[in-house]
Amino acid sequence: MEKITCRYCKSENTVKRGLSQTQNRGKQQRHLCKDCKKTFILDNGFWKKKNSEAKITATIDLYFSNLSSRKVRNHFRRHWEHNASHVTVLNWCREYTLKVSKFIDTLKPQLSGQLYADETEIPRGCNTKRKGGDKFWCAVDWGTRYINATLYSPNPQNMEDAVSFMAKIKQSNDKPKYIQTDALTFYPRAFTKVFYNNIRKKDERVKHLVNNVSKTGKHNVRIETVFSKIKDRVDDFRGIKALWSAPILMQGIILQHNYIEAHTTTGKIPAELAGIKLDVEKNRWLGLILLSQSAQLP
Ligand SMILES: [Zn+2]
Repeated sequence: MEKITCRYCKSENTVKRGLSQTQNRGKQQRHLCKDCKKTFILDNGFWKKKNSEAKITATIDLYFSNLSSRKVRNHFRRHWEHNASHVTVLNWCREYTLKVSKFIDTLKPQLSGQLYADETEIPRGCNTKRKGGDKFWCAVDWGTRYINATLYSPNPQNMEDAVSFMAKIKQSNDKPKYIQTDALTFYPRAFTKVFYNNIRKKDERVKHLVNNVSKTGKHNVRIETVFSKIKDRVDDFRGIKALWSAPILMQGIILQHNYIEAHTTTGKIPAELAGIKLDVEKNRWLGLILLSQSAQLP
């Protein structure tokens, strides 16, 4: 049986000591520490939350499914006990995105190595006086539709960001079969720099394919469904002012894509296609949060 560690003195000399009625999360198992004599409830990831796991995970799922934070709040008012403001909605989304991301970073998706890269404009703060948007750089693996590398930047496209983005792709896949990009001028140099293509033998180079839409007139329809899904989801960012907040929410959108939703054309969740098997049930956000909590990462 799994040993329960005391949350105060870290002793494993503990026993179950009945159930405790919590104010908002039903009955929870209470434990007694025989060393320090304190009783405690284990943190399953929702400790001290004033709302149920069901409501919190429904919130996160609704928001990342492309319902704005205000629409999620309005749904609460009609369907659930206690209200939650649209700020609470965003707080939960950020808190659990960070928690689950730490866990997911330890997983190793098996990718096809056929990568497609794209940049999306993020209209952060465009409701206010701020003009222009941020840039979100994103690479998708064709075989799995898994999004394997992203970069959030408050700057217009530039060489430094292109190199950082390429480095992130390399980190997730050391030698991809090819990377296809649009005709952005920074790509060839960033590509050569990161993948050492100028000093490799010809047959060992990573292939860089360029799709110049203005010349070919063809969008990459194979992969466009993924990018257009992301583009559809950033509308709520108009109301978000803080630069610290937007990248976390983008990370949540990617998490929703990779680990929660079955992709429309493959009918499968990208993480599953990438060979990642997780012990989670129908409520995948809940499952991921519980797994992340029990993994006890720093
Ligand atoms: Zn103790």
